[in-house]
Amino acid sequence: MDLAAALDRAPTGERPRFDVAAGALVGGRCADCGTTAWPARAVCHRCGGADVRLGAFARSGTLVSCTRVMVPRPGLETPYVLGQVRLDDGPVVFGQILGLDDSEAVPCPVTVRVSAARYWFTPDSEPGRPEDDAGLHAPTDERQT
Ligand SMILES: [Zn+2]
Repeated sequence: MDLAAALDRAPTGERPRFDVAAGALVGGRCADCGTTAWPARAVCHRCGGADVRLGAFARSGTLVSCTRVMVPRPGLETPYVLGQVRLDDGPVVFGQILGLDDSEAVPCPVTVRVSAARYWFTPDSEPGRPEDDAGLHAPTDERQT
């Protein structure tokens, strides 16, 4: 695909970011160099290649850093935890971490969670993991601005 064709793609804000049925984040992977991005970009940010293919990333990753936030935001009760997760086959994604115990050592394995309009991560040590969501309270679907 040449650059002119890439410019005809839907803008970033209109490309899918989630596959709710698969419970995964959808992003882009450069066919030329393999670089991944979430959300997907029209053109690779590493090599400038225009052949960026959409696809769902793995639901597994590693929480590489996090912080406990005490400043309230709409839809989030304080304290809440934000962190960076390196997806097993994708980029580093910033998001909310639910169910992280204070005793959890970071880095630690986490699983991606997706609803219609939001995503978050839960540590694999969370009781009932990985497929049982009982006891977890998903964030509201209020979009961040
Ligand atoms: Zn590339």
